[in-house]
Amino acid sequence: MVYKCNIIWFLKYRLLIILFVVVHCGTVTSQEAAIFTELRDNMVRTQIQSRGITSDKVLDAMKKVPRHRFVLPEYISYAYNDSPLPITDGQTISQPYIVAFMTDALHLKSSDKVLEIGTGSGYQAAVLSEICDSVFTIEIFDSLGKRANTIFESLGYKNIKSKIGDGYKGWKEHSPFDAIIVTCSPTHVPKPLKEQLAENGRMMIPVGENTVQHLVLLKKKNGKIREEKVLPVRFVPMINQKSEKY
Ligand code: SAH
Repeated sequence: MVYKCNIIWFLKYRLLIILFVVVHCGTVTSQEAAIFTELRDNMVRTQIQSRGITSDKVLDAMKKVPRHRFVLPEYISYAYNDSPLPITDGQTISQPYIVAFMTDALHLKSSDKVLEIGTGSGYQAAVLSEICDSVFTIEIFDSLGKRANTIFESLGYKNIKSKIGDGYKGWKEHSPFDAIIVTCSPTHVPKPLKEQLAENGRMMIPVGENTVQHLVLLKKKNGKIREEKVLPVRFVPMINQKSEKY
């Protein structure tokens, strides 16, 4: 245990020097890239596999996506920690385990078309894009949506289509979706999202008021939707949602 902790502290110490170089010179050497890979592998082993996620697709995606490119520069040394982190506009990038848990629960196939509500940093969309051919993501804040899009372009994620808008309404032109993942919390499941879910589609969504929320898994079979509460969670609230309950 002590030995493991020392390795982590050693990696982080080296990481701080590297981050200084990356931020000030804008370059990443292969040795630096190897250290980020090591930190990511460690994150997957200690935070995700250890909590029971076994899907190779999800684990491989989490090993590939460079989370340090999605967090704000001042938080880069915490990028592979077991926690959410602040992004701009009072929003957060989710804890890596929650990203893995929600992705895993959707049982994604590569041919699936997925919609994400709440692009935020873009990290969750990038994880989805490692698994599925086609990812759509909506963000309500212009600045966040634009920043995420720039990161997708710089990392070569060509299968993510993003837009700025109110995710409550979904994205009708591209529906139906085989899977929908919502990363902000409405007080109720938006009716348009239920309608835009394909037959045999799955949706993961945190539902509730500010302090009490549950991740809910919805499945559509023969046009009917079944709902199951799976985990107590705390997400940022969905903005601009309609007040009607469906
Ligand atoms: N998936 C993100 C986590 C983002 S936090 C990531 O991987 O980083 C939730 C995001 O939902 C925030 O960026 C917030 O601005 C956005 N959001 C809140 N209400 C929204 C709405 N009605 N439509 C679209 N995005 C919304």
